[in-house]
Amino acid sequence: MNLNSAIKVLRQHQLKATSVRIGLLQLLAKKSTGISFAMIKQEFDMKLNSVTLYRVLKNFEAIRLIHKVLDSGGTANYMLSLDDASKSKHQQHMHFNCTQCNNIFCLNELSVPHFYLPEDFQTEFVGVTLIGICPGCNIMV
Ligand SMILES: [Zn+2]
Ligand SMILES: [Zn+2]
Repeated sequence: MNLNSAIKVLRQHQLKATSVRIGLLQLLAKKSTGISFAMIKQEFDMKLNSVTLYRVLKNFEAIRLIHKVLDSGGTANYMLSLDDASKSKHQQHMHFNCTQCNNIFCLNELSVPHFYLPEDFQTEFVGVTLIGICPGCNIMV
């Protein structure tokens, strides 16, 4: 994502284009897998305050610009939900967590199975994470 597209995305969400927001968007857009808080801090070139980063992530999450998934170790991984078409139901897709590299992938093309719940239970969010070996690690096995 170039600078102009990042600014455009932020404008669409009525957000001021701050350097942290732009940098975070660009970083997340570059990754095809989820990225943890620690990894984001590490990858940011500029000195970044944890509180600031946490706030920006929370904000992005609230407006559904990003979504987060826990890996098998319980660490939150963030990823972009830029696709407008899938955004309304962006939470309704499955994820894949690799046991080798621990990367998290969005499986957007797989629809979430319908669950028949006991009476009076109402689903608001379906979080399904499949655990296994990703294509990248599969080659090396
Ligand atoms: Zn892997
Ligand atoms: Zn996802």
